[in-house]
Amino acid sequence: MTGEPRDDCLFCKIVAGQIPATIVRETDTTVAFRDINPQAPTHVLVIPKAHYRDAAALAEGAPELAADVLRETRAVAEQEQLDSYRTIFNTGSGAGQTVWHTHAHVLGGRGLEWPPG
Ligand code: IMP
Repeated sequence: MTGEPRDDCLFCKIVAGQIPATIVRETDTTVAFRDINPQAPTHVLVIPKAHYRDAAALAEGAPELAADVLRETRAVAEQEQLDSYRTIFNTGSGAGQTVWHTHAHVLGGRGLEWPPG
């Protein structure tokens, strides 16, 4: 839970510029880029540059950074001109987490049903 970059982490490689991504926003502490397999007209991932495996680890290890990520989800929604949108942190494989570097999904641009699958 140190926040140090990991050689085996896909999103750490995106932060380092070693893997290409369509970046829509960047701050000192966060990067926002388009999901490679979009589930809505807007599907952007907001990540902390520091490595934390999931949202709970981020909140525990760096709460101010967790706030930065949340602030950026709002900024993405404004930039994408979304009136309504959904912010999701999948936590654990049973909930669909496949990349073990905290990321907020920002989904919008279509009607979103509740409850999600
Ligand atoms: P998770 O399933 O909540 O962990 O979300 C991981 C997301 O990362 C999925 O929606 C993937 O489509 C997305 N993804 C995986 N690899 C890449 C990539 O290289 N660029 C952008 N998005 C990616």
